[in-house]
Amino acid sequence: MPKKTVKELTGIGGAHVFVRVDYNVPLENGVITDDTRIRASLGTLEHLLKARARLILASHLGRPKKGPAPEFSLKPVAARLSELTGRVVQMAPDCIGDEVRRLAAALPESGILLLENVRFHKEEEKNEPAFAAKLIGDTGATVFVNDAFGSAHRAHASTEGVSRHVKISAAGLLMDTELRYLGMALGEPERPYVAILGGAKVSDKIEVIESLLPRVDELLIGGGMAYTFLRAKGHATGKSLVEQDKVDLAKALLQKAGGKLVLPVDHVVASAFKEDAETKTLPVEDTPDGWMGLDIGFTTALVFSDAIRKAKLAVWNGPMGVFEMKPFAEGTLTVARAMADCRGTTIVGGGDSVAAVTQMGIADKINHVSTGGGASLEFLSGQPLPGVACLQDA
Ligand code: AMP
Repeated sequence: MPKKTVKELTGIGGAHVFVRVDYNVPLENGVITDDTRIRASLGTLEHLLKARARLILASHLGRPKKGPAPEFSLKPVAARLSELTGRVVQMAPDCIGDEVRRLAAALPESGILLLENVRFHKEEEKNEPAFAAKLIGDTGATVFVNDAFGSAHRAHASTEGVSRHVKISAAGLLMDTELRYLGMALGEPERPYVAILGGAKVSDKIEVIESLLPRVDELLIGGGMAYTFLRAKGHATGKSLVEQDKVDLAKALLQKAGGKLVLPVDHVVASAFKEDAETKTLPVEDTPDGWMGLDIGFTTALVFSDAIRKAKLAVWNGPMGVFEMKPFAEGTLTVARAMADCRGTTIVGGGDSVAAVTQMGIADKINHVSTGGGASLEFLSGQPLPGVACLQDA
């Protein structure tokens, strides 16, 4: 499992190094509203720059579906990266092609070239070998460094395909930190090991639940995804989010779980999906027709917090309710506080859970805030991540 990291790379002075970073930053009218992801890459970049490598940086941004589009351009990232590093960052007009060849060839030692959004080419997500070959061929890279943990569960050209066209491939420092922390939850985790899952869609996470169950001591489920399980238990769920086609699978998992799977006992129900809707807190058995569950209730929050505080390892991914609306945020905030209080090792992943601990100013009380939601869940459930498997072993 341990992978070669950039720290073990030798003789890369002058070499063109293709670094897959995750610069999928939030933008509003072309302005970066949160540069955490850019900052998170600086350790790896500084390390390579000190070794006098020539850096070719590649990333995706958003989900452009129809080729190049200015709103998905990485240009604002080049400007921000230049401010953060105090160096010139050249912006390429594309990620392959003649201009990329010219810019890469002219790049000085310790120079930085940021390629344009790799998803401007549909071949990226299809992991087309010819496209991966061009990413490497046109940039003249001889080394591949993957530091984009958040995209490591996808076998795309820039996260996996490129590794076949270089002799040397290594994990970046951010990737290495992620693998070391999340690695604690595989193999022989400290016990009790408690996982908390939430969010809207059970279909996204049902396979993860299945593979997590034998590994954890308790699996606490909140958020919209709890309702498919509550329905499987025969409860009325009103207008709550239920994925009907997953009810049988949920039933089978409940049977297999043998008490490890902990569901809400009470919840906040609302008359409509809006902030000023009428609300009541009720036992889950008593959901009135036409009402919907939008947060875990007080008792459930206590049960979950208690389990988290006692854990030696606690992993949390996904909100406990519609936390974007104040009346339905308390369950998520309570879980976040319990994570901060837990004396064991704590890992938080997924955009919404990370946002909750960040907004509450308690991110520094969490041992590891993961940069990858989906990737961290897949990793924790024991599935190999293509963007990691393709890297050389240490
Ligand atoms: P996901 O992308 O699956 O992690 O889901 C995150 C979203 O789930 C957030 O935007 C929450 O507002 C939403 N969510 C959480 N709990 C519920 C619920 N009980 N009903 C509807 N949506 C929910």
